[in-house]
Amino acid sequence: MYRGWMGKISPKHPRAESLRIRERLVEGFEKGIVVPEGLAAHGRGEAFDYFMGEETTEQARKAAEVAVAMLLLAKRPAISVNGNVAALVPDEVVRLADSVGAKLEVNLFYGSAAREIKIAEHLRRHGAKEVFGTNRKFSTKIDEIHSDRRKVDKRGIAAADVVLVPLEDGDRTEALKKLGKKVVTIDLNPMSRTARAADVTIVDNVVRALPIMAGIAKKLSRWDRAKLRKTTGGFDSTKNLKAMTELMSRRLRKISR
Ligand code: ATP
Ligand code: MG
Repeated sequence: MYRGWMGKISPKHPRAESLRIRERLVEGFEKGIVVPEGLAAHGRGEAFDYFMGEETTEQARKAAEVAVAMLLLAKRPAISVNGNVAALVPDEVVRLADSVGAKLEVNLFYGSAAREIKIAEHLRRHGAKEVFGTNRKFSTKIDEIHSDRRKVDKRGIAAADVVLVPLEDGDRTEALKKLGKKVVTIDLNPMSRTARAADVTIVDNVVRALPIMAGIAKKLSRWDRAKLRKTTGGFDSTKNLKAMTELMSRRLRKISR
């Protein structure tokens, strides 16, 4: 069995944090939670994170606040969890779902019943009381989606008015929008179809964004609806994405000088 480099990464290494995140994914892979394709998808995310200086921007923080307010204002919020999210931020995703009263649902691009169950168990070990997406009795399909992600739970994503889909594929984001749902995503690539189709895109690494969102949720859950509505009101997704791509290109110009 591949043992990885766990514990051998020097904290002095300039990319120590990035390497530790990779190790968490490798661990998830070893447990059967993450698929090899998930490791590759993470690589695409890492490249964008590099451009951003591996830091949460003010823009991302603002988008996170809007996203949390939307989840709190929702009648039936849901959070979609895939293998990478479960491996990287299990505690935080459970904490966020608790604070905003959202249903947690396992939903995979590369689906398998065994992996769904492993992810649900993993989330339960990290404190989740209820995890949807593994019981066929409650399963229904979104016809427009051409991957395993078309399978959704009647009690979770299918019934939701606002869905948080961190690290989502563009096809499904567009399909969820067509169904009239409000979609919130966390995606390091501000140019992806997901980032473009979502109502709110937090351009940040899930490793940083989810803890921030869980913290914001604790604060905002004490706010009244009028104050929450004021927070979501002025948000302009196109403007937010433009600011993120401009920030990346400014950084690229600086690096290449
Ligand atoms: P789309 O289908 O939306 O056009 P894509 O096909 O380029 O996007 P996918 O593989 O479908 O990409 O989805 C993975 C997305 O998740 C990518 O945009 C990638 O940048 C992003 N991503 C990967 N790891 C992380 C992470 N840790 N935090 C935030 N985003 C990430
Ligand atoms: Mg895609």
